[in-house]
Formats: sequence, C-alpha cells, structure tokens
Amino acid sequence: MPELNEWETAVMFWAGSDPVATIRELKEMGVRAGQLGIPGDFDLSDATAWKSALSDEAFTVYTVFAAYEGESYADIPTVAATVGFVPFATREIRELRTLEVIRFAHELGVSSIATHIGCVPESRQDIEYKAIVEMVRRVCHYASQFRQTVALETGQEPAVALKFFLEDVDCSNLGINFDPANMILYGTGDPIEALSILGPLVLSVHCKDGDWPSKAHPGALGEERALGEGAVGIARYLAKLRETGYRGPLAIEREGQAPARRVSDIRKGIALLSEIQLSMV
Ligand code: MG
Repeated sequence: MPELNEWETAVMFWAGSDPVATIRELKEMGVRAGQLGIPGDFDLSDATAWKSALSDEAFTVYTVFAAYEGESYADIPTVAATVGFVPFATREIRELRTLEVIRFAHELGVSSIATHIGCVPESRQDIEYKAIVEMVRRVCHYASQFRQTVALETGQEPAVALKFFLEDVDCSNLGINFDPANMILYGTGDPIEALSILGPLVLSVHCKDGDWPSKAHPGALGEERALGEGAVGIARYLAKLRETGYRGPLAIEREGQAPARRVSDIRKGIALLSEIQLSMV
C-alpha cells in the first residue's frame, strides 16, 4: 500500500461485497486512502480478496473500523442500549468479534483498528465501567501482539470523560479517532475545545459535519450534514488539528444518505478540504 502524505485526504467507507468496485469508486472521487469499516455481519474468515484488491489498486487502508451486529444509531437511548462494548448481553461476543477484526486488519497489513465502544457509565467506580476498562485493556493487549493501535471514536461522552477512561485503561497503544461532528450530534461538547483536551491522544480523525440536537426533542441526535454545511466549522477544525500537531490523514465521513448523494457530498468535501488547506499555506 502506498505511503501517505501529511493530511492526505481519505474517506471512511464500508466493506461491500466487491472490494475492487468499492475501491475504484473511491479512486474515482480522487482519493487513494481510507478507513475500512467492517459491518457486524461481514465474513472475516478470508482476507484474500481485500488484500489483493488493495494491492492491485494501490489503495491504502490505514484503519480497520469494527461495527457490531445489532447496533442502532436511531437516537441517544438506543445508542446507549445497542452500541459498542457497553451493552452487557453482547459484550462477550463483541469482544471475540473485535479480536477477529484485529486479525483481519493484520492480514491486510493495517496497523490500527478503531471502534465505538458505546456510552460508558459516568462513574469511574461503577462496576460496569471497570468491566469495560478491563475489556478494552484485553483488546489493546491482543492488538499490541500485532503491533496495532486501537482508536476509540469520540462523541458518546464528553472529552474529559474519554480522557479519564483512556487513563484508566492505561495502554500505550490506545488512542482516539476524533470525530468533531459526533461531539455536536450527541451534544457532548464543542469539538474544538475537546481537541485541546484530547489532542495528544488523537491517532486518526474524521472530517464530518452536523448540527446540534434540538432541545425540543430530548434524546434525539443532532442531524449530520455534508462537510462544511454543519456547526463544526471545518476551517477552525483544521487549524486546531494543525495546532495539536496532527499530521495524519483526513478521512471524510458521510453517513445516512442515498449512495448518489453520499458520493456527491464526499466529492464536495474533498474540494472543501483542499480549498481550506490551500488557504492555510
Ligand atoms: Mg465518525
């Protein structure tokens, strides 16, 4: 897989059934790198097709993202009940699945995995909090045997809570996949202020946009927007990323849209990132 430039424009995308077609669609948008999301029901038993597609198409995957069967992002209570490592009923099966994703990423030659761990309990004394700390520690230990980092996605808790959580796990290969829009969509805090707290822990980033949740509908998520059309302020986001010293890829993420709209929004996002970067030189 080709080496990436500083702030290489990339895309967060999901593994489809045809790896070559999926990668070619991304290359047609003008990117040569991305974060590969693995749906919960994706068959991980054979990485050969993805490995050859990445090599033949000279496309770099630098993070493999794990999602799990049964997750729903309908609203905040549903996220709390279904997403990540937190729901007790699926905890064991999702831990095993995460180890599979680590092995799959290793077969592809990717040195970082990432996931949403869900809405971690607020109290650091909570027995469930401690159980999730232990779970993340086991996942990190397993990933370290493959020389991989593990990135937790931001959004479902305030920056300070996430920082404490990482301190409690205390693994050197654990960090953050920073998503500024999630902070806004979940109403967990201003993403730029969050970067002041989490900056040194950031391993990778999403470039996503969105609006704050409506106060009229408690529990509702804010609305995701095309890059540049939401409340993040992409120019100030990039300026802050530069200030923190982040030089890794910038992965545009666009969810919840029909495929044609998604592609056109990502294309606009790519143009916007390049325009902002030119203005920063
Ligand atoms: Mg994200």
